[in-house]
Amino acid sequence: MQQNLLDFDAHALAGYFTEMGEKPFRARQLMRWIYKEGESDFAAMTDIAAALRGKLAQSACIIAPEVLREELSDDGTRKWLLNVGTGNAVEAVYIPEENRGTLCISSQAGCALDCSFCSTGKQGFNRNLSVAEIIGQLWWANHQLGKDADGNWKISNVVMMGMGEPLLNFDNTVSALRLMLDDQAYGLSRRRVTVSTSGIVPAMDRLREECPVALAVSLHAPNDKLRDELVPINRKYPLKELLAACRRYLERAPRDFITFEYVMLEGVNDSVQQARELVNLVRDVPCKFNLIPFNPFPQTHYRRSRPEAIQNFRDVLMQAGIVTTTRKTRGDDIAAACGQLAGQVRDKTRRTLNRSVGVV
Ligand code: SAH
Ligand code: SF4
Repeated sequence: MQQNLLDFDAHALAGYFTEMGEKPFRARQLMRWIYKEGESDFAAMTDIAAALRGKLAQSACIIAPEVLREELSDDGTRKWLLNVGTGNAVEAVYIPEENRGTLCISSQAGCALDCSFCSTGKQGFNRNLSVAEIIGQLWWANHQLGKDADGNWKISNVVMMGMGEPLLNFDNTVSALRLMLDDQAYGLSRRRVTVSTSGIVPAMDRLREECPVALAVSLHAPNDKLRDELVPINRKYPLKELLAACRRYLERAPRDFITFEYVMLEGVNDSVQQARELVNLVRDVPCKFNLIPFNPFPQTHYRRSRPEAIQNFRDVLMQAGIVTTTRKTRGDDIAAACGQLAGQVRDKTRRTLNRSVGVV
């Protein structure tokens, strides 16, 4: 079987070249072609010796996940549904803004953590994505979107806020992060790459040591009682431990605050009193808040908080000096909002894929 080179970070690629009897600097040359030029055809890599190109064409390939569907929203948001095999699909979403382009990518097919308001969680866990499948989302999106007038890729920021819990697919996530940061590959600054976690405390400590990038933590509740219900992993890593891990993370983080995500669920976690409790809870953690209006999906009993409730909640945080943004609901017309990913099309995809491989 051919080796997919998107599975290697710089270190692993250099090792592969050494095994082939090639100089490690050739690996760096190749990385530039793959990531800076977006090239997947060895024959086009003109400054690499023809003999080596031939050898690579025999033993290796550069393959991003196959696109099953692409959708473009009226507001410019784009969504790609990507085939990760055996009836599973994950999504990557591109969100263009005035002075940046953000790609939201997935880390797992499904998720084991079963947060009560999350459509990915409702699908259960299928498997971890490989490095190639994670970085392949960025490779593919760059390829599709092309470069701006200055010759830079349009994607300037990456957020791991798609399907799955990135810190439960730790090694592959870190290898993919390294490619995002590596100057020979995408060269993004650590501040422009964000990992979102539901709060896997030991893995937050490992990330701080091995590859500190900007961190978003899915808080969603002001106390353990409610968080146990909404984010069940809280029973294993309760708020006190989570907030202590946030403080430790900040000692090495590229930004001097943690972003707390807080999904706004009507009548569940959106009262002014809960906002006050939240202010008290996070008083020792330098932070910003991102309020996410709940994205409904078919099997849910939750409702999105009313705009006034979100505004009042935000006012309490702001008055306490906490910078708080409310996430704009982008790409609503194509169901592109994070947290609402492939679920609704999964069953259909499964049927289509099964048909195409002759299962049904
Ligand atoms: N597993 C990680 C990252 C993926 S989820 C995490 O939980 O942080 C990305 C964000 O979307 C999280 O904050 C998650 O809580 C939120 N989310 C999940 N389902 C949602 C929904 N239906 N509406 C709004 N946000 C949702
Ligand atoms: Fe998993 Fe995140 Fe969804 Fe929770 S919110 S089930 S951790 S993807």
